Amino acid sequence: MASNFLTGRDYLRKKKIREKKKLISVALGFPDLAFAVGAVPVFPIRMETFEVSKYLMPLQSATSVLGWDLTSKFLEFARQFDVLKIVDKILEDVITSINSKYNEMYDIGVSNGVPSELCYGINALYGMHKSKGKNLDANLTFAMRCGSWNTFSESLKTTVPSQIIIDVPSKNSDNEDIALKEMINNVKNGISELEKITGNFVSDNSLQKQFRIGNQVKRFYKTILYEISDSNFYPCNPATFAEILALLTITFQDYNSNSQRYLENLSHLVKEMRERIRKGVGMDVSHMPRLLFAPMYQGWEPEIHEIIYKLGGRIIYADWDVLGFLEEIPISHKSDPIEEYARFLLNASKKGIGCDDENMTNSYLKTAENMNIDGLIFNQVYGCPSTSKIYDKLKEKLKAEYNIPAIVIKFKKIGENIEQVRTTLMPFMERLIDTRNS
Ligand code: SF4
Repeated sequence: MASNFLTGRDYLRKKKIREKKKLISVALGFPDLAFAVGAVPVFPIRMETFEVSKYLMPLQSATSVLGWDLTSKFLEFARQFDVLKIVDKILEDVITSINSKYNEMYDIGVSNGVPSELCYGINALYGMHKSKGKNLDANLTFAMRCGSWNTFSESLKTTVPSQIIIDVPSKNSDNEDIALKEMINNVKNGISELEKITGNFVSDNSLQKQFRIGNQVKRFYKTILYEISDSNFYPCNPATFAEILALLTITFQDYNSNSQRYLENLSHLVKEMRERIRKGVGMDVSHMPRLLFAPMYQGWEPEIHEIIYKLGGRIIYADWDVLGFLEEIPISHKSDPIEEYARFLLNASKKGIGCDDENMTNSYLKTAENMNIDGLIFNQVYGCPSTSKIYDKLKEKLKAEYNIPAIVIKFKKIGENIEQVRTTLMPFMERLIDTRNS
């Protein structure tokens, strides 16, 4: 999965030049329509050239020659003798490589006219489009975010002229039937535009095929979030586990441009994790408090999971679950896939993606309850007028209703304030561990 992310540039070039596929940029969790129309969805940072870990390339070659099962057996063999800390090292390198590229994209955004007081995510996304937008055939976006997001989408027109914007009706709409009808209409219009760009036709079958794959991906994703992350024994150390969750958060946005391959990778990942736990290969984490860190998809300090690990805790990243993107889309021969997709989008918007304070607070509370976490670290993104303001109410309710403590840290750019973050978190973790042991 990591290698598919980092080598995306070659894959995408092949798709565009040799196979004449259309590249459609997407963000958040919305690649389905692009797949269904036979285009290639791409989270645009993947068109960049990345520094690839020196361990990753041989591993990728080994996987293609030996298959994943034999490669993973070899890795396990190597680890028994503690010859190489291959997986830990690769993941650390991958996350470092992705994050230095994110910072580069942020700088491009800031130096090309995006006001730096906008959030990190918007600046970075703008930079990604500015840097490689000329390779894109269109940008597919859902206009249900904050005002800053919508202004940003508008400003992309100069970089990617073909903009497909699917509006999501207000979640405050009194009449749910009217909202659903409007949503269905908006999805249909978006599909028509995609059909015009690609020259392909979207059928019920192509939509359902994509939703079926998406549903399986979501099931595996939730297995990792709920079954494995709640286990007392991890298949790797908690910092590496958090890196896997970070990689999932980033790659879920476009399924690394190949949904079937992404599904197979996730299936291997879950199988491998379960096998390791069954064989007792990994780490006892029963004494380590679990902390949900959120939101992180619009920018976060990746050093955080290492800091928390060293302070005796474990971090969980679960943004897409909090925001409702891991909900499955019902499929049956009687259902209309466009209507089901419209309903899925409306439900996601009710979970708070539309930046409604109350809904968003409730989504965090529900996730905290379902995931049985011991604490929350709230990531206050500089320049975000929306999500950030829910913190006080959320903290109060978490304590009152679930006795879960929360702390806020501020984020502006990767690599800034690491020491300050560490200093803020130390007493919080000490208290958490004391309470757990008392
Ligand atoms: S809600 Fe906040 S973090 Fe999300 S896009 Fe808007 S400003 Fe950025």
